[in-house]
Amino acid sequence: MTTDFADRLRAVRDRLRAAEHRFQRPPGAVRLLAVSKTQPAAAIAAMAAAGQTCFGENYVQEALDKMAELAALALEWHFIGPIQANKTRDIAARFAWVHSLDRLKIAERLSAQRPEPLPPLNVCLQVNIDREASKHGLDPADVGAVAAAVAALPGLRLRGLMAIPAPAADFTAQRHAFARLRSLREPLIAAGLALDTLSMGMSDDLEAAIAEGATLVRVGTALFGARL
Ligand SMILES: *Cc1c(COP(=O)(O)O)cnc(C)c1O
Repeated sequence: MTTDFADRLRAVRDRLRAAEHRFQRPPGAVRLLAVSKTQPAAAIAAMAAAGQTCFGENYVQEALDKMAELAALALEWHFIGPIQANKTRDIAARFAWVHSLDRLKIAERLSAQRPEPLPPLNVCLQVNIDREASKHGLDPADVGAVAAAVAALPGLRLRGLMAIPAPAADFTAQRHAFARLRSLREPLIAAGLALDTLSMGMSDDLEAAIAEGATLVRVGTALFGARL
């Protein structure tokens, strides 16, 4: 089982490296976040033994349980799921990153609840890039105003933008959605925000995301197999 995880991790890292090379990105420009939602702590421990340190979780209680089981390991935890107001205290205290921030009210709570000794919580604004009714995320038209407000919060460090595009028919269509997220970041950088992160790309579309400038891909199935 441990070998399986090492093999899959190597295969995904090879995909990242090949895409960086193919699309003229600097080697190592793209970080791999292992999305471990619904996977048992033992699977995370096996992936950590194979060399992976950053893990993404969608559900707060499930994540806290696994953190407790894996407390002996030096892992970096990223929250990537929908954020309920009654869960912000745990998220602010226990995670290093949040990718799914899409409301200023929630940002203010996370900032106020970030414990004093910890560095500011790294956050990305989630954008509903295809304006799908069913999806979380900010409307693209609202990103500028929310980014400016979030960047001013002392307990947070705004790092960039995140999106989960609608399923696309082919590689070109995948690239178009990611290119739109990249374009949304450009005026923010021009306005003086130090945004170094584009969190985009998953198991099925990470090459297209890397082609359009992803700095972090969030990969579950390709690493852990189908979710339980
Ligand atoms: C589940 C999930 C992923 C990983 O998706 P895969 O297709 O399994 O790679 C990435 N990002 C978010 C926000 C997710 O919820």
